[in-house]
Formats: sequence, structure tokens, C-alpha cells
Amino acid sequence: MVATKPKIGVLALQGDFEAHCRAIQRAGADAVEIRTAAELNDIDALVIPGGESTTMLKLLGIEGLFEPIAEFGAHKPIFGTCAGAILLAKEVLSPTQPSFGLMDLTVERNAYGRQIDSRIAQIEVAGHPAEAVFIRAPIIRRVGPQVKVLAEYQGTPVLAEQGRHMVATFHPELSAGDAVHRHFIEKISHPR
Ligand code: GLN
Repeated sequence: MVATKPKIGVLALQGDFEAHCRAIQRAGADAVEIRTAAELNDIDALVIPGGESTTMLKLLGIEGLFEPIAEFGAHKPIFGTCAGAILLAKEVLSPTQPSFGLMDLTVERNAYGRQIDSRIAQIEVAGHPAEAVFIRAPIIRRVGPQVKVLAEYQGTPVLAEQGRHMVATFHPELSAGDAVHRHFIEKISHPR
């Protein structure tokens, strides 16, 4: 088999998709912006970026992308960061809202409070120090038995995977290191 670079789509309706594309390319995969259901046919995995999950939900409805992405996620990997993590979770709190429910998680939106809602923290990913940029981040309040926690901050999970899918409550595309994107690329290149 000839090794080819995986092609990762980044949902480009709203939010931080350009920085994700650059991070994916730095980490060694091809990146393409996704705005239509047809474009999903051409990618190996999808990133749902940070932004505002309520706005993204509205745009997913308007563009007719909610069902196609749910269907995509039933067979192919999705990595959701921040607002994207909220969209992947099974249960969303404060307030409750619809989601793809592809990972057995309960997330609480904007959970770090108003005064200190954005920060850069040091975390550890697979034994290596990494920087985590939190922007009005959710907190993962519950993880199901199938979920593997890959990093924690202040005692709650901030990076987790379940089967082919992965979430980060922070913005890995905004930090200097590419450890998190590399992990996702590695994961989709060698599915278990
Ligand atoms: N607070 C946003 C939400 O609830 C997420 C913030 C982000 O993606 N940086 O959707």
C-alpha cells in the first residue's frame, strides 16, 4: 500500500477554521475547508473548530449540513475543539442544546465563569508538556466508560477520545506545538 497524506476537512461556517488548516498542514496532513455536504465525500476526517456552538448549529441547519455530518461521523473520525467539542457531546448543559452526540460526554458551556473565561494553561499530552489556550471554554462534567481521557486541567478532562472521535475543550490550533493535531493524524492513520 502506498502511504498517502490523510486529507482532513475543517468545517468552515464560522469560527477558527483557518488556524486549524494551518496547524493540520504543519502537523503533516492535507487540509481543506468544508462548506457543503458534497465536500464531505472527499475527506478522511473532519475538524469542527471553536467558535460559538449556537451560531454553528444555526448555520448547520441553514446549510443543510447537520444530517450529513451526523452520517459522516457514523463512519469517519471527527475532532471537535471547544465549540466543536460541545457539538460532539451527547449531553450539553447551560443551556441544553442539540448536538451530534457522537461521544458519551456531558459538557457545560462557558463553565469557567465570566471573570476568568480565557487563559493559557500548561497541560501534559502523552507525557509531554503542552500549552492549552482556553477561550470561553466548556468543562467536561461527565465521561462515559468508553471515553479515554488524554489530558486534564484542574481535575477535569480537557482532551479525550472515544473510538475514532476526539475532543479538546481548548484551542490546539492557537498554540505553538502541534502535539494534539499530530495525535489526531496518527490516530486516523492507524485506526484501531
Ligand atoms: N463558548 C462557546 C460556546 O459555547 C465556545 C467557545 C469557543 O469555541 N472558543 O459555543
